[in-house]
Amino acid sequence: MTDQYAVIGNPIGHTKSPLIHGLFAQEIRQDMSYTAIEGPVEPQDAFAGTVHAFVAAGGKGMNVTAPFKLKAFAIADERSERATLAGAANALSFKDGRIVAENFDGVGLLRDIEVNLSLPMAGKRVLVLGAGGAARGALLPFIAARPAELVIANRDIAKVKALVEQVASSGPLATCGYGDLEGMGQFDLVVNATSASLTGELPPVPPSVFSPTSVAYELAYGKRLTPFLRLARNAGVASVADGVGMLVEQAAEAFAWWRGVRPQTHAVIDRLTVPLN
Ligand code: NDP
Repeated sequence: MTDQYAVIGNPIGHTKSPLIHGLFAQEIRQDMSYTAIEGPVEPQDAFAGTVHAFVAAGGKGMNVTAPFKLKAFAIADERSERATLAGAANALSFKDGRIVAENFDGVGLLRDIEVNLSLPMAGKRVLVLGAGGAARGALLPFIAARPAELVIANRDIAKVKALVEQVASSGPLATCGYGDLEGMGQFDLVVNATSASLTGELPPVPPSVFSPTSVAYELAYGKRLTPFLRLARNAGVASVADGVGMLVEQAAEAFAWWRGVRPQTHAVIDRLTVPLN
């Protein structure tokens, strides 16, 4: 029987996941189906019911997108360390009647930066804007990549401090508010992990964080030049990128987790890329 997978979210009409996983399955000849499910937001326990029904119908795994990442984490029987720090799951695997939760957003982001954009993070000064789910997911993979310094800035400073306190090894990790960034010099990599771009807003980051050799990375994708990327480009950075590579790389991680083989990603990224202009 064809193995069944799905992405669950609400709304879900915008999702690229069935296309991405369909291309992966075609490339490495996997007998699997991958559909999109619009999950129920109300009542509270309806999400769990939808997941359990999918498992009962033979489902093997799911990707999870907004607004269900926290609920997916909560219903799991087992959780990876990355998912635990993020407090959120973006992928589930169903095995032997158990639900296992993972979070591949951070590793997907790191791989896009280090492999696709050829920017090894070791020894670099890295600034992350935001302390929401995506930033939380990135924290452990980023620390493991051994940057010289990792600064996380957020509007709500208590939130970013609480996040960093959960990490056992403090390493080169620092937190701050946007007002502190003015005096902190330039960064090799500035990652916008806020959701500001989704509403066309700009996080209050000063242009002084950018240098002519900096890379500016926007997690949102398909939005062309967001206010953050425009600010970076006007400040004269070396390059700008959006999160399409992260999207495809996290999908490839989930695919490898489920199927035991990692697909090629470059052709899929090229196919989904919207030019940044
Ligand atoms: P969350 O809602 O969990 O977190 C939002 C964060 O953005 C918070 O830190 C919030 O700050 C901050 N924020 C929101 N508006 C502003 C603003 N105007 N100025 C400054 N900070 C702001 O969102 P997620 O972490 O889930 O998502 C963040 C982004 O990452 C989104 O654009 C999302 O689309 C993208 N994403 C991309 C993925 C990909 O595969 N490419 C995967 C997952 C996410 P505060 O705490 O102070 O309120």
